[in-house]
Amino acid sequence: MAEIQETSVTSARQKHIVRPSQEMASLGKDDMPVLTKAEGIYVYAEDGRRLIDGPAGMWCTQIGYGRKEAVDAIAHQASTISFASPWYMSTSPSARLAEKIASLTPGDLNRIFFTTGGSTAVDSALRFTEFYNNVLGRPAKKRIISRIDGYHGSTGLAASVTGRKGSWANFDIETDRVSFLSSPNPRHAGSRTEAEFLDDLVKEFEDRIEALGADTVAAFIAEPLLANAGVIIPPKGYHARFKAVCEKHDILYISDEVVTAFGRCGEWFASEKVFDVTPDIITFAKGVTSGYVPLGGFAISDAVIARISGENANGSWFNNGFTYSNQPVSCAAAIANIDLMEREGIVDHARATAGYFRKALESLLDLPGAGAVHSAGLVGCVQCLLDPSQPDGTEEDRAFAARVDEICFDLGLIVRPIAERCVISPPLVITRAQIDDVVGILRKAITQAGEEAGLNAPAGAAAG
Ligand code: PLP
Repeated sequence: MAEIQETSVTSARQKHIVRPSQEMASLGKDDMPVLTKAEGIYVYAEDGRRLIDGPAGMWCTQIGYGRKEAVDAIAHQASTISFASPWYMSTSPSARLAEKIASLTPGDLNRIFFTTGGSTAVDSALRFTEFYNNVLGRPAKKRIISRIDGYHGSTGLAASVTGRKGSWANFDIETDRVSFLSSPNPRHAGSRTEAEFLDDLVKEFEDRIEALGADTVAAFIAEPLLANAGVIIPPKGYHARFKAVCEKHDILYISDEVVTAFGRCGEWFASEKVFDVTPDIITFAKGVTSGYVPLGGFAISDAVIARISGENANGSWFNNGFTYSNQPVSCAAAIANIDLMEREGIVDHARATAGYFRKALESLLDLPGAGAVHSAGLVGCVQCLLDPSQPDGTEEDRAFAARVDEICFDLGLIVRPIAERCVISPPLVITRAQIDDVVGILRKAITQAGEEAGLNAPAGAAAG
C-alpha cells in the first residue's frame, strides 16, 4: 500500500482521483478550483473568493447552501437510525417521503422506487420496463426509443439511452436495444414552422415504431427539456403528441425529470403542468435533496403496477435494488428539503421569478455574440454565436463561450459551459437582485470576449 502523506487538496486529487468526464491526457495535471464553504447561492474558493453558483452545483442546490433545517434533519436521522436494510426492514423517512412524493406527482404515479441518484433511477426504470414486459409475457418488447441530444446518466443502460455522441467515445453501448430519434431542437427546424417541425418529429417516431415493430418497443424516454444538451426546449405540444403515440402502441412513456423536478421549472414536477404530459414513469434525483446527500428514484403509475402485481404478478419478484435504496438519512434530508421548500414557497418563487429571469437573459441579446436565449422556469442559457443565423455553434463559438465562462469566473460567477451555450440554472432561492448580478457579469463577459473575438457591430438575435 502506498504511504499516504499530508498534501494539498489539489495534489491529493491530482494523484488519486479520476473525476467525471476526465480527459485522460491531463490525468494528474488538470487544474480545478478548490471550494471550501458555501452559503445561500454562493460558494467560496480556497483563496477566499466568493462565486455565484450559476449552475446550482449540478442543477441540484434548489434551497441553497447551509440551510440549517436540512443539516439538522441529516444529523438527527444519522444519530437516530442511520441505516436499515431495504430488503428486510422499513423506517419512517422512506415511507413518509414516498407518500409525500406521490402527492406531488401528476396523475396516478403513486408507487415509488428509491435509488442512489439519477443514473440509477433511469437504469432501474429501464430495468422495470424489461421486467414488466417479461411478466406480461411479451419477451420481445424490449427496445427503448430515445433522442439524440438527450442525457440520462452514466450507468450501463442510462448511458446507452444517452444520445450525446461525446459520451459514447471508447465505451460500448447497448446498440441493439436502443434506437435514437432526432433531437427536438427547434433551431433545427430550418425553413419549417414549429408546427411542421413537430409533425415531422412525430412522423419519425411513428415510422420508427413501424420499422422496429411495436411489439419490440418497450419504452420511450425523454427529458422534458434537454438540459445537458444546453437547455433545448422541444416544440410546444411535443410531449403530449409523443405520449399519444406511445399509448396507441402500449409503449411506456418515461419522463426523465432528474433536472426538471422539484421546482426547477416552477412546478414540483414539470411533465404535466409545464409540458402537458402525464407519463407512465417519472425519474427524479438532484433537487429532491437539494444535493445535500445522494438520492434518486422513480415514480410508476398505479395503472402500470396493476398489470403486473397482485393477481397479475405471475409469481414474479422485482429483483432490483440497492443497499442504499430507502436510505433513511437521504430520505430524511429529502423530507426536510421538501418541507422547507413548501414553508418558504420556493417552487412558487421559482414560478414567479421565471419571467424576470427570462427577460434578464434576453436583455443580453443586444450584444454581438449573444445569439439566442432559451429558458423554462429557472433554467436558461445564452447561446454564444459569432454568426447568430446558424442553429448550432461552431468550434469558434465553443471557444468564444468558453472564454465567456472564464471571464465570468474571474468576475465571480460560475457558468455551466455546454458547447456554445452558457447555461444558468441557479439555486431556486435566487432573488431578482441576484439575477441582476448574474446578468451584469454575463454582460461584461460577453462584451469582453466579443471584443477579443473581433465582434463589435450589433447582431441579429433570437429568443426561443
Ligand atoms: N438524467 C438526467 C436528465 C440528468 O441530467 C442526469 C445528470 O445530470 C442524470 C439522469 C444522471 O444523474 P446522476 O448524475 O445523479 O447519476
